[in-house]
Amino acid sequence: MSTPPPKTAEPPSLPMHSGPPQIVSSLDLDQLEPGTRHNLHLDLFRDPAGQQLRIPVLVVKGAEPGPVLGLTAAIHGNELNGIPAVHRFVHGLDPKRLRGTVVGISVVNIPGFLLRRRGFSDARDLNRLFPGKAGGTDSQLVIMRLREQFLTHINYLVDLHTAGPGRTNPVYARVDLDDPVSVELAIAARPDLVVNKTASPKTLRGAAHALGVPCVTLELGAPQVLQPEIVMRATKGLRRIARHLEMLSRPLGLGGRPPLCNESSWVYSEHGGLLEVFPELLARVRKGQPIAHIVNLFGEIVGEYKAPFKAIVIGKTADPVAPIGTRIVHLGKLVPWDE
Ligand SMILES: [Zn+2]
Repeated sequence: MSTPPPKTAEPPSLPMHSGPPQIVSSLDLDQLEPGTRHNLHLDLFRDPAGQQLRIPVLVVKGAEPGPVLGLTAAIHGNELNGIPAVHRFVHGLDPKRLRGTVVGISVVNIPGFLLRRRGFSDARDLNRLFPGKAGGTDSQLVIMRLREQFLTHINYLVDLHTAGPGRTNPVYARVDLDDPVSVELAIAARPDLVVNKTASPKTLRGAAHALGVPCVTLELGAPQVLQPEIVMRATKGLRRIARHLEMLSRPLGLGGRPPLCNESSWVYSEHGGLLEVFPELLARVRKGQPIAHIVNLFGEIVGEYKAPFKAIVIGKTADPVAPIGTRIVHLGKLVPWDE
């Protein structure tokens, strides 16, 4: 019996290049004509070499007034799946039939994107620097400008991430369960899982919360790759969020709610060696079930790891070379939605 030949995916429908973006130093959405689409290059700051750092902002201003939905991808420069999701969602919108405005930043962290790394040009994690600081370091200044020029102009935010280096996730939403509007956004996106986590005020989601902007973080698979299936799911998730916010004419039907975790934690390695993780993403494991082992280079087990509680697998490492202190498996405690 022969296996069928591999398939080639259909290319997504995107417009052809239409000329340079419009350079702007501030995001003045009121000035834009209703029913129009814009590619903007937003000046964020002048780097030490005197070059302007600009970020790509895709704006669709609907013909009808309504909420402003903000999207951010690649604040961690190597987290790529969100970028084509922003592109496809935004280009799939018809400005004449949109209620409200969509403002999508496809790459927040341009230096990190070019360097294929999480951090900014100074290696700082931009998602730990809110609200930024006038007169601070480059990265603090960028965050201050991003907050002023973007975050204060939107009513809702979806922040797109992936797992960290060497790790992988399903499609899951991080949200603060105490914030019902944010929870609705999370459910509308139809992720595999919703994880309750109060956001630190130093993160984009926390900064949005501090401004009263409901926000959900969507974690989308693995870093530094484009995963077509996950990009497609994220694109559809953004569309469903827009429908939920009644920005599109087709209302969102009530779907089932994904499994909910009210808390989660990582299991870390206490040994170095070659790591094998046993459960797949989203597997349910019972308390005490073996979840990983580490062998030395003679093939002898030096560490065995068991689930510390009954859990669902939210994330896992994809890198078998494990120093001591490696994150092995991210486990969530499942709870019913009404708790
Ligand atoms: Zn991230």
